[in-house]
Parts: sequence; C-alpha cells; structure tokens
Amino acid sequence: MAGSMVTSEFLVEVDHQRCRRCKRCILNCGFGVFDFQNMTTADSSKCVACHRCVVFCPEEAITITRNPLAFKEHPSWEVDRRKAIWKQAQSSGMILTGMGNDLPWLNVFDHLLIDACQVTNPSIDPLREPMELKTFLGRKPDRLEVSADNGGFRLQTEVGNNVELAVPIMFSGMSYGSVSLNVHKSLAIAAEKLGTVMNTGEGGLHPELTPYTDHIIVQCASGRFGVHSDYLNAGVAVEIKIGQGAKPGIGGHLPGEKIGREVSGTRMIPVGTDALSPAPHHDIYSIEDLRQLIYALKEATGYKPVSVKIATVHNVAAIASGIARAGADIIYLDGFRGGTGASPAVIRDHVGIPVEIAIAVVDKQLRSEGIRNLVSIIAAGGIRSSADVAKAIALGADAVGVGTAALIALGCRLCQKCYTGNCSWGIATQRPELTDRLDPDWGAERLVNLINAWSLELKEVLGALGVNAVESLRGNRERLRALGLDSTTMDILDVKPAGR
Ligand code: SF4
Ligand code: SF4
Repeated sequence: MAGSMVTSEFLVEVDHQRCRRCKRCILNCGFGVFDFQNMTTADSSKCVACHRCVVFCPEEAITITRNPLAFKEHPSWEVDRRKAIWKQAQSSGMILTGMGNDLPWLNVFDHLLIDACQVTNPSIDPLREPMELKTFLGRKPDRLEVSADNGGFRLQTEVGNNVELAVPIMFSGMSYGSVSLNVHKSLAIAAEKLGTVMNTGEGGLHPELTPYTDHIIVQCASGRFGVHSDYLNAGVAVEIKIGQGAKPGIGGHLPGEKIGREVSGTRMIPVGTDALSPAPHHDIYSIEDLRQLIYALKEATGYKPVSVKIATVHNVAAIASGIARAGADIIYLDGFRGGTGASPAVIRDHVGIPVEIAIAVVDKQLRSEGIRNLVSIIAAGGIRSSADVAKAIALGADAVGVGTAALIALGCRLCQKCYTGNCSWGIATQRPELTDRLDPDWGAERLVNLINAWSLELKEVLGALGVNAVESLRGNRERLRALGLDSTTMDILDVKPAGR
C-alpha cells in the first residue's frame, strides 16, 4: 500500500460563497495547504492548525475542524498511540515534536491556592500604596555589616555582581536559529522596556542585538555556538546550559536547512551544516569540572554572575546543591513542560519532573544546607500566568523564565510543528518571507503588555496577602494550600492541605 496510513488530523473547508479569491490564505500558509485552480482549494493532510489563514482571511471563509473520523475505542491503545505506530512503521524514525509536553500529567500549580488577609491583618491596596517587584539575581551575603557615616550608614560588606530585574519575570533562552531574528529583537526590545532580561539561548548573539546587551544573558551550551570572548562579555551574565526541560539528558539538533548565512555567522558554523550540540559538555564530567568552567567564565568576564541551567530531574535538589557549591550565582530550573523547537516526543513527554516540585525541593535543600543565599533560583518550563508566577515564588523561586507564553503573545498557536521550519507566524522559521511577518516593535509591544499585565496581577496578589514586596513572598510556602494533592506530594512541596 502506498502513502501514509495516517488520516488528516484536521479538515480545512473553504466557503466558496464567501471566498473573494484574494489568495491571502495561499500567501499566509507556511505549510502549503492552499492552492488556486479556478477556485481556492485546501489539502487538509498538510494542515497543522496554526490558524494563520483563518486570522487573515478577510471573508472569514475558512473553517478548520478536528477530523471527527471515529476510531474504535480502546483503553490502552489510544488513537495517538496507534497513529504513532503507523507513522513509525512507515518512516522507521523517531517521532519529532515541538513546544512543551502535551500529556495530561498532573499540573501541581493548578492544585495550589494562595492565601489572603481578612480581618486582623489587613490587605494592601496596590493601586494606592507602593508595591516592590524589584528582584536581584545572584549571590547575596549572609549578613550585611554597616558603619556609622556622617549621621547615616555606610555599607561595609562587599556585595558581588547581581542582575537587577524590575520585575521577577525574564524571557527564557530560545536560540537564534530555532526562532527568527525578529523574535530575538522583540524579546530584546521588550526586555529593555520592562527592565528585565532575555536570554540568547545557545545560538550566539546577532550583531543587531548589540544595543540591548544590558538586558541580555548570553548562553554557553555544549555546542559552544557563537561563543567567544566578546560574546561572553557582551551580556549582564553568562549561562551554562547543562540541560533543558523539554529534553533532559539529550543534546540539541538544528537541521542544516535552518542554517542560512545569518544563522551560520552567529553560530560560527558553515552554511547548511547541521548544528549538533552534544548531550554532555565534553569538559564537564563532575561538579569539580563545572566549577572550573564557572570560574573560567567569571575570570573571562570580570566576575559577572554565572547561571547554570538544568532540566528538572529526580535528584534535582542534590544537583542544585552541587551547582551552588561549585560557585554558580543562579540556578535555572527548567521543568518538564518547557518548550522546544525540536525534541523526540518520547523524551519530551516521559523524562523529567514538573518544575513546581523541583522549586520546592531545591529551595528546601539549599536552606537546610545553609547555602540558599549563595544562589538565586529561576523557575521555568510551564509558567502560564501571573498566578503561576506567584506560586512559583511562594514555593521558593526568586524569579521565573517565560518562553512559550512569550511566543504565544507573538502569535504562536501551539501547533507543535516548530521543527519543520515552516512556522506561518514567522516565529520558528528562517524563511525570509515568513520571518518578515513579525515586526519587532509590534512584538515587543505585545510582550511588554503581557508582562505589565502579569505584574499588575502579581501586585494584586501581594496586596491580598498583605505584603508590599515580592521578597516577602519568596519561599513563603505557609501562604499556599493544596487542593486535590496526595499527602506525599504535599509533604515534598512542604505545603499544607486547604482548610488546615
Ligand atoms: S484568504 Fe479567504 S477570501 Fe482569500 S482566497 Fe483564501 S479563503 Fe478566499
Ligand atoms: S512557534 Fe510556530 S510552528 Fe511553533 S508551535 Fe508556535 S505557531 Fe507552531
């Protein structure tokens, strides 16, 4: 039998009564669904439900529905499992996917509730009283020594370099190559306007981002793409990427088709070659090796803060303790719902643990060892709203990283086809006719709006809790209660059940 045995996931219908034959759908679809032969036609087998055509059709003539084709139900052999087998029986390859884990694992954030003040301890109105969201990332001294100075005080303790954020929200690392330059520009402009930072990801720093380097963390991953002295010194901090939430334990792969002239220049690799990052750093096989790299980067950058990004895995607390003792200033915890441009589905969906659990165990471990002040904790991988931000901070994070939410703000429809390089929204693509669709100023405005909206909501939450600084929420698990979590999970989170 020739061809695929997998039926179309979506059905595309064009209402020919409404269609004015403008052909915008043909231009807008990055996946080649539409054609025109006397009338507009659609090949449903190519549709990924990215909705670009629907949004830009001037006549609302396009309808996309999930293919209602009935499958015989089976409790173990769900339809998606059967489709995966059909695909693999045909291709003999791994199933690749993009964006975050889409299996219905328990989402711990959705089972946590935040406390509020009532009678004796009044809440605060954030519209009328100052509310502090400023956050400093990096090593803090255990105690501050001050001396009297001319009627005032002078700080005697030497405080190391910290990264100052106006809000406890930063943009997660997404490499130029996996996303377009216009995405990077949108993130950089927005980071500057918001007083926060974006992260280059592992693809190097494009020269057009130079004006924004006071708001950029540069990443050094196992592939060392684009890493050189000027690059390391360009940002406000350096991040060593050991792992990422969507693919713990495996390396990265950007296909050669995405390595055009610009990406090749930024990554310092030839045009058209696959950009492969090995699973391990070949100079890191122990915490001592990691320590050497951390201090090499500090020496190279005049002791800028060094962040270490890891995927959240079962023994994350012990790993984080080692990272803190190795001299890192920031630990970036990327949970198993973290996004990706491309990952084998089996890794994305079945390896790692939720970031909610990881934050709590890492914060507890570092406190129990008396080394919590050595590092800041960033939580990422599944932060969807200001409520998630507040809960992550209450569990012990200093700040959060947002990646997928930022891309959704830029138009992403979570079609999960980033690895194809055909993103109709100009996000996960290097095709010039597609990347041109994302105007960086428009993108930055949307990102600024989103983070400002979340910041307002975060202030409301703080006010309801009766505190006037995000610092007072940090690690304050007493202000959280669990609803619908089992006792072991509550014990691990160190959170009481609702009503107690
Ligand atoms: S964009 Fe809409 S109106 Fe234009 S050709 Fe396509 S279906 Fe017809
Ligand atoms: S970035 Fe583009 S290709 Fe990736 S999920 Fe979003 S819309 Fe789809």
